[in-house]
Amino acid sequence: MVNKPTMELRWDPTLREWILVSNIRRFRPWQPEGFCPFCPGNPETGYGWRALILENKYPMLMENPPEPGLHWFYKTSKSVGKCYVVVETPEHNINDISDLSVDQIEYVLNMVISKVKEEMSRDYAHYFLWFRNKGKEIGVSLTHPHSQVYVLPFIPNRVSRELESARDYYSEKGRCLFCDILNAELKDSVRIIYDNDHWVSFMPFYSHWPFEVHIYPRRHVQLITELTAEEVRSLAYVLKVSLCGLNHVFSGKSMPYIMVMHQAPLKGSYPFYHMHIEVYGVMRDEGKMKYAAGMETGGGNFTYDSVPEENAQRLRNSVLRNCISVTK
Ligand code: ZN
Ligand code: ZN
Ligand code: FE
Repeated sequence: MVNKPTMELRWDPTLREWILVSNIRRFRPWQPEGFCPFCPGNPETGYGWRALILENKYPMLMENPPEPGLHWFYKTSKSVGKCYVVVETPEHNINDISDLSVDQIEYVLNMVISKVKEEMSRDYAHYFLWFRNKGKEIGVSLTHPHSQVYVLPFIPNRVSRELESARDYYSEKGRCLFCDILNAELKDSVRIIYDNDHWVSFMPFYSHWPFEVHIYPRRHVQLITELTAEEVRSLAYVLKVSLCGLNHVFSGKSMPYIMVMHQAPLKGSYPFYHMHIEVYGVMRDEGKMKYAAGMETGGGNFTYDSVPEENAQRLRNSVLRNCISVTK
């Protein structure tokens, strides 16, 4: 087999979804132990910044990608798009963004919002996925606080399923599915983690992961760019409190998690959709990881080894005990 640089999208015709394929990461140069590319003073970062959005040096998507290989049977497509790294603070030794000030989180949110606005006009930009992987259990190799952005030429699978559900629900009932979920959670109230004037953070009735937290804006908005300055500020606070709660559920340990922002696609109109943030805290108990194994990965359905109402209470207690007094 020839070992040549390849970067393309491959279509899985059985599950009808794209796989992002690239072997260029393997051509990555060796870096000395302890070197941090996100710390101030590197050629890429420089000095005098509060947060940075950098192009990922080893991306899965590029603005001018190589032509995809043509296959006689399978479908392929160009890996056109962008991959960014959001360096959330110049400080290297911070455990999580819940340890940043509300001002700093707000600053980062506004940087992401500017990036969405900038990417929106690009032809290839169909979706802006902002996500954050935290903890070595999730496979994070660089500990400097950062998140990532994938600007995609397609709508990612989970969002596309949500869009379909929301569209169907709307045509059937004339209401937003997410607004109704929010109302149901508020009415039940046992799974609410924290809420303020603009946002509600809760552990959904249908949680997949042990400490799953969804953060919904009370207002029916489709894109992060539509939030008011006050809503952004308020989101910074809810994020800080919710993540702080997660990090304190288990004594002295911090929670490994995946966070993702679900918003409407950048092209077209989706008035029935409602943006939100999802956080998947993956520890189910002190020192015990929940793995997506046979049933979850092989079968595609999650098993939940407790009930969300119990874990929501543990998380709410953690928030009350450790996080509410944090400076606003
Ligand atoms: Zn660093
Ligand atoms: Zn809604
Ligand atoms: Fe979602």
